[in-house]
Amino acid sequence: MNEAAHAIDPAAVAAAPRPTNVLVVGVGGQGVIMVSKVLARLAQRHDLEIKQSEVHGMAKRGGSVFSHVRFGPQVWAPTIPVGEADVLVALEWAEGLRWLPYVDPERGTFIADTKRIVPPFGCTDRRRGATLAYPGTAVADVVGLVPHAYALDAEGMASELGNPRVANTLLLGVLSTVLDFGVGEWREVLAEFVPAGTVETNLAAIETGRAWALDVAARGVLPLAAAPARAPAVDVPTGAVRLDIEAAWCKGCDICVKFCPELCLRLNAERVVELTDPAACTGCRICEWLCPDLALAVRNVASPAEAPA
Ligand code: SF4
Ligand code: SF4
Repeated sequence: MNEAAHAIDPAAVAAAPRPTNVLVVGVGGQGVIMVSKVLARLAQRHDLEIKQSEVHGMAKRGGSVFSHVRFGPQVWAPTIPVGEADVLVALEWAEGLRWLPYVDPERGTFIADTKRIVPPFGCTDRRRGATLAYPGTAVADVVGLVPHAYALDAEGMASELGNPRVANTLLLGVLSTVLDFGVGEWREVLAEFVPAGTVETNLAAIETGRAWALDVAARGVLPLAAAPARAPAVDVPTGAVRLDIEAAWCKGCDICVKFCPELCLRLNAERVVELTDPAACTGCRICEWLCPDLALAVRNVASPAEAPA
């Protein structure tokens, strides 16, 4: 049993006059669909009727992806009306802001990663330290707009577990405190949907997200006002940079190569990306934000000497 006072109990869902509505949003490559599939399977285990509708055509970072999941004794329509989402799970900050009107103003919960992924059209100025076209809304600005909210640096926390790609599972852990399915059920179903080699990390991530949310709730700091979230920040390099490439994560999709404005990336003979001209790289981070596999990271370095020659 969860400690969050506003947790939704499956038995209550089965007797409820309207379905429970969960909206999961993010951008391509973040794992929106995995979160919604876990949820649908959990509802299925409780013999609830489920309708799921999704848009996931943009299989790259920068493209919106969303999934409506509705479950209850009977569900007629596949999409959630505005103002009727019991929970909005946002894997990217601006996407969460965009869908806020869907949160039920009486009882809804907003769960968001403060991670900001700037779409390519937001990077029109490529100079170091340039201002990016991205909403300036901070975590504190959302206080009072929704009844319950959790904002956390899920990708940063996932990185501390050794894999930033399990940020979606970390948010699933937060969601597990709001939808009162059994803890063991969340773990079992999650293990069905993640690659075999990542089960352990994913289980650690769901536990971390869950522990974080229960701690926040136990300390009575909901809604959001005093949540220990790090403020969203877009770190645009102003000085020397280094592009780190996690070659093992690169699947050779070519997206970064096509979008690099300085044309300084290419795929090598093994179809792994490499930087052809480090001096030409401005550190604009477009490749980092678009890589669906988080294989690229722009790092600030203290001096040009630390950047690769
Ligand atoms: S680093 Fe690899 S996986 Fe990532 S966008 Fe570039 S080619 Fe695709
Ligand atoms: S390599 Fe990446 S960070 Fe460097 S200029 Fe190209 S897109 Fe920008």
